[in-house]
Amino acid sequence: MTEALAYVGLGANLGDARAVLTAAYVELQKLPGTRGHRCSPWFRSAPIDSTGPDYLNAVASFDTTLSPQALLDALQRIELAHGRERPYRNAPRTLDLDVLLYGERSISTPTLTVPHPRLHERAFVLWPLAALAPDLVIPGRGPISALLPSVAGQALEPAD
Ligand code: ATP
Ligand code: CA
Ligand code: CA
Repeated sequence: MTEALAYVGLGANLGDARAVLTAAYVELQKLPGTRGHRCSPWFRSAPIDSTGPDYLNAVASFDTTLSPQALLDALQRIELAHGRERPYRNAPRTLDLDVLLYGERSISTPTLTVPHPRLHERAFVLWPLAALAPDLVIPGRGPISALLPSVAGQALEPAD
């Protein structure tokens, strides 16, 4: 079975965000059909188009034999296990797991768009992604190093 290098965005801003992010990364490491997990440093950011406490964000990468949709399904099961609800768009959330990249694939289905359609405009995605993969080229968007200056205005702090 072919393997792809997947990048997943992790975000939390309700409850004990630090504990939720830690648990989510442990659960990603336990997902069948995944190996070689790495996690970026964590970052703290104020909500954009949203409300509530600051967000904690990170990016994880791993090799996977899961299909893109199977990966999304697995991420949504982990979100639900952490009490994720979707009362309205951009609502504060206990846990958000997004498929950022799946190898070099461009995917567009009713349930899944990859690369994630807004990743290139978000500092809280680009900085952790660049920490994991400084030479990454984002399909359709170009080298990550060329995208970072455009999000320089978005406040982001290292979190420990
Ligand atoms: P944003 O997409 O702007 O980060 P969000 O993460 O808050 O917003 P959600 O409510 O978590 O959005 O997801 C809405 C739907 O987006 C999901 O049900 C899923 O089917 C769809 N979706 C499309 N592409 C992706 C992707 N690459 N990763 C995760 N979900 C995706
Ligand atoms: Ca998201
Ligand atoms: Ca999401």
